[in-house]
Amino acid sequence: MIRVAINGYGTIGKRVADAVTCQPDMKIIGVSKTKPSAEAYIAKARGFPLYIADLSKKDAFDKAGIPVAGSVEEMLAACDIVVDATPGGIGAKNRALYEKAGIKAIWQGGEDHEVAGFSFSSSCNYADAIGKDYVRVVSCNTTGLCRIIKLISDEYGVKKVRATMIRRGGDPGDIKRGPIDAIVCNPVTIPSHHGPDVQSVIPDIRIVTTALIVPTTMMHMHVVQMDLARPGDRNRVLELIKNHPRIGLVRTQTGITSTAELKEYVMDLGRPRADLWENGVFEGSISVDGDDLYLFQAIHQEADVVVETIDCIRAMMGTIKVAEESIALTNHSLGFSPIR
Ligand code: NAD
Repeated sequence: MIRVAINGYGTIGKRVADAVTCQPDMKIIGVSKTKPSAEAYIAKARGFPLYIADLSKKDAFDKAGIPVAGSVEEMLAACDIVVDATPGGIGAKNRALYEKAGIKAIWQGGEDHEVAGFSFSSSCNYADAIGKDYVRVVSCNTTGLCRIIKLISDEYGVKKVRATMIRRGGDPGDIKRGPIDAIVCNPVTIPSHHGPDVQSVIPDIRIVTTALIVPTTMMHMHVVQMDLARPGDRNRVLELIKNHPRIGLVRTQTGITSTAELKEYVMDLGRPRADLWENGVFEGSISVDGDDLYLFQAIHQEADVVVETIDCIRAMMGTIKVAEESIALTNHSLGFSPIR
C-alpha cells in the first residue's frame, strides 16, 4: 500500500483524498488544514487523521470538536508521498519540508514548473515520471489542452495550436472571487501563460493561447484550433476521442450546448461532487476542413487534475510502469468511464 498524505485539504486536496481512498493500492495516512473550517469537519466525517500546519492553533480545533492527530511534520514522517494542494505559491515554500522528511512530493498547477523541474500529464509523459521524487501535475486548463493536443498530434502531427480559454471566475465555493458582471481579458496581453505551460509537457508543440474570465463557476470552455500536418478526417477524430480514456464526447443528441447543462448531466450520472474528470468535447463543434481542426471542450477545473494526480503517484512510486494500466485502474476504481 502506498501511504499518501495530503497537505492542503481544500478544493483539490479533498477530491484527491477521496480518489486515493477508492484505489486498491494506496491509502490516506493524513490530511492537513490551517483552520477548523467546513472542510476540517468533512475530514473528520471521512475518518481522515487531521494534521495542522501550526500546532499553536490546536486549541481552535479542540473547541470546534475536531481531533488533531499532530503537526504536518508528523504527517510527512508517516507517508511515502505527499500531494501538496495548498494555494498557489505556498507549495514551493513547502519543498524544504518535504526534502527534510525525505519523501516524494507532487505539486499542483498553481506552482511553477521549476518547483519540481518536471511537469506531468498522464496521457503525455507518464513513463518519464517513473521513479521521480518531485513532480508537478499541470493545471486544469493545461491538462485539458495536453490531452487533446497529444491525441491529435499522435495521429496527424500538429503544426500549430491556437486556443482560447474562457475561464470560470471562481470555484462554486469561492465567494470572494469574480467578476460578477464583466468579461476580463486575463491576461490582456497575448499570449497567455497556458501555451508555455503546455510546452512544459509537450516541448516541441507550437501553440498560442489567449484567456478571458467570465462570471461563471461551473467549468472552463476552450475554443481550440489546430493546423494539422496532414489532412484530417472528422469521423476518425470522433473515433480517436471515443477511444480515449480521459476525453469524453458531449453528444449532439443530448441537446447539451453549455457548461450548465453538462454539469447537470454529470450530476445526474451520480458522479461524486458532479465531477467531470474527462475533457468534455462537444461533438457538434468538431469540424475538420482539410488540415484545419476546430472544437469546443469543457474542462471541469476542480476535477480533471484529480485522476492525473492518482496516476502520478503510481508513476513516481514505480508500482505501475505503463500509463494505460494506471489510467485504467484509476478510472475503474472510481467507477468511471468517459461520457459518450
Ligand atoms: P483551496 O484554497 O481550495 O485549498 C487549499 C487548502 O490548503 C485549504 O484547505 C487551506 O486551508 C490549505 N492551506 C493553506 N495554507 C496551508 C499550509 N501552509 N499548509 C497546509 N495547508 C494549507 O485551493 P485549491 O483550489 O484546492 O488549489 C490547490 C492547488 O491546486 C493550487 O496550486 C491550484 O492552483 C491548483 N489547482 C486548483 C484548481 C481549482 O480550480 N481549484 C484546478 C487545478 C489546479
